[in-house]
Amino acid sequence: MSESDNIREPSKAAGGWGALKSVGRQLMGSGAPVSNARTLLKLNQADGFDCPGCAWGDPEHGSSFEFCENGVKAVAWEATRARVTPEFFAKHSVSELQGWTDYDLEHQGRLTQPMRYNPETDHYEAVSWQEAFDGIATALNALDHPNQAEFYTSGRASNEAAFLYQTFVRLFGTNNFPDCSNMCHEASGVALTQAIGIGKGTVLLEDFEKADLVFCVGQNPGTNHPRMLASLREVVERGAQVCVLNTLKEKGLTRFADPQEKLEMIRGGSEPTSTHYYRPRLGGDMAVFRGMSKVVLEAEDRAQAEGRPAILDHAFIRQHTTGFDAWCAMVRATDWDHIEDQSGLTRDEITAAAQLYIDAERVITTWAMGITQHLHSVPTIREIASFMFLRGNIGREGAGLCPVRGHSNVQGDRTVGINEKAPAALLDAMEKELGVPLPREKGHNVAQAIGAMLDGSARAFFALGGNFARAVPDSTLVAQALGRLDLTVNIATKLNHGHLMPGKVSYVLPCLGRTEIDRNSRGERQMVTVEDSMSMVHGSGGINLPASKELLSEVRIIAGVAKATLGSEVVDWDALGDDNDKIRDMIARVLPAFGDFNKAVRQHRGFWLRNPASEREWNTPSGLASFGEEDLRDLTEWQQVKGQQATFVLQTFRSHDQYNTTIYGMDDRYRGVYGLREVIFINPADIEGIDAEAGDLVDIIGCHDDGRLRACRGFRVVPYDIPRGCIAGYYPEMNELVPHQTYGDQSFTPTSKSVVVRIERHQP
Ligand code: SF4
Repeated sequence: MSESDNIREPSKAAGGWGALKSVGRQLMGSGAPVSNARTLLKLNQADGFDCPGCAWGDPEHGSSFEFCENGVKAVAWEATRARVTPEFFAKHSVSELQGWTDYDLEHQGRLTQPMRYNPETDHYEAVSWQEAFDGIATALNALDHPNQAEFYTSGRASNEAAFLYQTFVRLFGTNNFPDCSNMCHEASGVALTQAIGIGKGTVLLEDFEKADLVFCVGQNPGTNHPRMLASLREVVERGAQVCVLNTLKEKGLTRFADPQEKLEMIRGGSEPTSTHYYRPRLGGDMAVFRGMSKVVLEAEDRAQAEGRPAILDHAFIRQHTTGFDAWCAMVRATDWDHIEDQSGLTRDEITAAAQLYIDAERVITTWAMGITQHLHSVPTIREIASFMFLRGNIGREGAGLCPVRGHSNVQGDRTVGINEKAPAALLDAMEKELGVPLPREKGHNVAQAIGAMLDGSARAFFALGGNFARAVPDSTLVAQALGRLDLTVNIATKLNHGHLMPGKVSYVLPCLGRTEIDRNSRGERQMVTVEDSMSMVHGSGGINLPASKELLSEVRIIAGVAKATLGSEVVDWDALGDDNDKIRDMIARVLPAFGDFNKAVRQHRGFWLRNPASEREWNTPSGLASFGEEDLRDLTEWQQVKGQQATFVLQTFRSHDQYNTTIYGMDDRYRGVYGLREVIFINPADIEGIDAEAGDLVDIIGCHDDGRLRACRGFRVVPYDIPRGCIAGYYPEMNELVPHQTYGDQSFTPTSKSVVVRIERHQP
């Protein structure tokens, strides 16, 4: 295979002409380039619709082109002219479609009509909405117990849909809320709730304009939050520091050519998005922060000894924190050999990064999946918070903690009640609102829902969006379990593999997209709301005609199913299903933090949902911010790999032409891979170590010892600048190698960034 075919020089910078070409391709591919280009002018605008992509914030006074390349892909993908009609399903059996790729399935276009699976013909067949609602109600009410049903939520669901959904599901009698955040930022939620009393970041977008230093950790914004590149570039341009900690050298974290900078584009220029770049090994970040904390404490000791001004913010530590002494003792007792071995960085590198922290007044730390998809992600994030407490870098301008969410409303869904272990305050308020008792026992998250499907105790699966069957670990095993259920229901805009594992009774229910107009029965245009990573809640109103006259909003679909299943004695589902303002009033009654929700969200750019921790108010049991309690543990995955031939720690990640399990295209131009997804990125020295060459085909075998063979076969070797012993590849393909039994302590998040595998020569 020649270098020129699939593996070529990666682009020099993120963004740039490559982004414009890709945007052009996506708009042409949608079949409606002109109207979709017009649609983009309303993307992320105050009077427009929210990007169905990631959850990066919108500037107060943004530009007319307030979107990135991946935002365009998301819009063009949704606003395609292609349609999946009943005729399509009549032509293609479910068994045939199961053999199609993720890309080919979604590329067929928008679903247009409610469909029910006919096991006799192995085809989906069109039904009316009422038939669908009644059929689902019959199957749900036929369950022996409501806990036999799993109700999944994708982070694309609006606040209104998510709130109505949790109302329906709790009234149905269960707290089984497996949720996409269980697979992404759950560890952030758990750790931050322990450390600062709320599971959310504490910074606003404007804080990036005031920070002296930004640590960007375990995150690839170039692909997953592209507008963040403009913020990082601005930090560097004004002489502040951006220090990256990432196993991989990601293009977006080195240079960015801003397509909105005309002169720069003409001269083919770009600007740096970072000033310092360190490459810990997979899972090594806790050790890095432990090491940096050690350097800061030793610097404090020297300052005290030499009578120099303090390095630590003693006033903050004294007034606002607990656990400082015990944590300091652990840090001081942690030896450098352990830190260097586990982090994969040298003491000098860690000391240099810590010095940046000491020299900076205002510091923000951002992170994503590179931190949250490990066994020890919760203690790692506690360590990050503890490090930031040392100089009071929280709850003041230009400083704070920022888990950057990958799905446009994943944070909002949790806020409005999508939570298998909901706080008593929410259930109390819901019971007061509804006047009936609600289930109080803890429900299932994703890992537990998978367990229930595999042991047969789950009998029904209902998905509010998403592609559960492909997003989860051990995806084939779970997909087969889905096919054994009594009921599967998927609310979706496009066809995906999750729909092709039908239960005995199965429905696919097509909903309106974010770009489309939703009118109530009075003909008025409706808006939904979302909450971004900065806790900003803003409105989103579609501008395009629906892809089909049959489509209903997520809210109406949930109201229809709920009414058919539960009746309307307790809740007037028709009224709520027809009027999002009514749902927002209900949210405001149940969650006072929303205040006068309908009025507040109609302000320019919406409103900030108050985060007490960013005002140094700590809703922790102690009423104080809490330093970490865990010592640096040995990383089991690295112990397994040590001394083993051809054995590596694998991380799964997205290509640049991908959004979660949605594959927009087959290229990954920031990594130099074109037209190919079955690839393994590996250090050139490790390629020699396995006696292979660039371009060779290999098999990657899972090493989890539970008797199940996990294998990805015939993947192409791609030499890449990655630390020895670490390898990387794309999900969902490589979710096959992630055991469903290995998940983060306390977070239950699949350990998709630290999977132990072996590479073997390919057996055709
Ligand atoms: S940065 Fe995220 S939210 Fe913004 S346009 Fe891009 S994908 Fe959409």
